[in-house]
Amino acid sequence: MTDWFVEALIPEVALRLQIDRVIYQGRTDFQDVLIFENPVLGRVLVLDDICQTTERDEYFYHEMIAHTPILAHGDVRQVLVIGGGDGGTLRHCLQHPVERVTMVELDAAVVELCRAHLPALSAGAFDDPRTDLVIGDGGQFVAQSRANYDVIIVDSTDPVGGPGDVLFSADFYADCKRRLAPGGILVNQAGNPFLEPNTIRDVARRLGRCFADVGCFVGAVPSYAGGYMAFGWASDDPDLRRTPTEQLATRFAAADLETGCYTPELHAAAFALPRMIGDLMA
Ligand code: SAM
Repeated sequence: MTDWFVEALIPEVALRLQIDRVIYQGRTDFQDVLIFENPVLGRVLVLDDICQTTERDEYFYHEMIAHTPILAHGDVRQVLVIGGGDGGTLRHCLQHPVERVTMVELDAAVVELCRAHLPALSAGAFDDPRTDLVIGDGGQFVAQSRANYDVIIVDSTDPVGGPGDVLFSADFYADCKRRLAPGGILVNQAGNPFLEPNTIRDVARRLGRCFADVGCFVGAVPSYAGGYMAFGWASDDPDLRRTPTEQLATRFAAADLETGCYTPELHAAAFALPRMIGDLMA
């Protein structure tokens, strides 16, 4: 008999993935973890019954959340990643000539389990001398830190009553704003606008209280249900959201990135929103 993983993001519409083999199942101090193998997606990471990432389609999500702000900015030295325990976002950030990526992940067990069972996601990124891994709560970190970052990437779990909730709060965004260097950009994982419209609406409203320019860009991730997913965007410089494609192409070529999803053209197009998403942002 075939075993299936059925996602519990919203009860009425579910993603169903075949489980060929369970690699790990257990509970950390913070959340339930399931890692299994699927014939199409390879190894799949699930936290609290929600699919986080998979070996074969991770680049659709990680390239867009990492390369989009870094190439829009154009001179990124210090990056802060909040969450992202699988190491995928960290790996993609380190493909740029940055000085340091500080990653603040709540759950050391997620990092260790992903290093052991999904090593391709981080592919050595945790051992890069430019990586500073901090195990702790991202909300507390930005409230207490005095450092400044050119880009902050919030690669969190969804706001569904778990440890990720704090990373969607107005106080957290205000603290992030204080941690951004002039010309800095904040991006975050902002859910599926069709299945969970309140998430991006709340993100836009709360970011709008502290940043001069707030928007979102969209991407499609094969292993996420519901079509487009949204990435929130905040900065004080509206031009950063409209970096010309030619300029992105020059930076993309200089960084010599090998990508499976990101292109400078897709970057520019990702800010053109389906009307219902634009309406949610308004
Ligand atoms: N790409 C994923 C998605 O959208 O489904 C997110 C992936 S990443 C695994 C999410 C990480 O956020 C998890 O490892 C989780 O432990 C971490 N996290 C949740 N709440 C956190 C917090 N308050 N501070 C730091 N990390 C947190």
